[in-house]
Amino acid sequence: MARTVLVTGGNRGIGLAIAQAFAKQGDRVAITHRGSWDTATAPDLFPVTCDITDPAAVDAAFATVEQELGPVEVLVANAGITDDTLLMRMSEEQFGRVLETNLTGAWRCAKRASTKMVRGRWGRMIFISSVVGLYGGVGQVNYAASKAGLVGMARSITRELGSRNITANVVAPGFIETDMTAKLPEERQAEYKKAIPLGRFATPDEVAGVCTWLAGESAGYVTGAVIPVDGGLGMGH
Ligand code: NDP
Repeated sequence: MARTVLVTGGNRGIGLAIAQAFAKQGDRVAITHRGSWDTATAPDLFPVTCDITDPAAVDAAFATVEQELGPVEVLVANAGITDDTLLMRMSEEQFGRVLETNLTGAWRCAKRASTKMVRGRWGRMIFISSVVGLYGGVGQVNYAASKAGLVGMARSITRELGSRNITANVVAPGFIETDMTAKLPEERQAEYKKAIPLGRFATPDEVAGVCTWLAGESAGYVTGAVIPVDGGLGMGH
């Protein structure tokens, strides 16, 4: 059965791969972007402009999607940023901005999606966290805190909305080949690869496959889970 899916930050990287995977299986897929979308990239995706740090923009984006594609049944809260530096050097602004995007932005979208999901008595929320959320990362106090926060949030949503047939899960990718990891110096990348049992970074499609599975009927009893897609890097977390 085709569903209406919204992927935040679906214009590039992991989000684009997730959006395309849903579209490929016949779902109606909307993506958010912040003004840099070229329809030729994927003409079957429905683009809406939205900065998830702006409550009015989130509300407007959902309203547009609802009008054009129907209520959002599957939310993939994927949009995220890093702003790395060591704890002692991290400014209030650096900490706040990362939390505001990665955690508060995801909460804002989940809250906006929940009303219609409750009414429809069906919903799937998927939060894209990171291995760093539970493993920690040098220079990533802000990022790790925001990504760990998604776990508590998804589990609370699970308890609040489980009886309405709404699931909330966290996907925790390790290192994925995107713009975010391309920024890492070569020697850092090689170091990380040594620590990953599978010895390589993942492709965005390997994260996308977990998301389409989580949103499907066969994963209907999976909720409040943290699913690693990290080549074994964070085993045991
Ligand atoms: P990219 O940097 O390639 O893309 C980030 C996406 O988030 C872009 O679409 C960007 O939009 C969007 N975004 C950022 N800030 C906002 C905002 N305020 N409002 C709306 N959209 C915003 O990242 P990845 O594809 O690599 O990462 C996607 C998610 O996966 C992130 O949450 C990231 O933390 C997580 N992740 C990534 C890993 C990796 O190895 N790449 C590993 C683990 C987790 P725009 O194009 O407008 O900037």
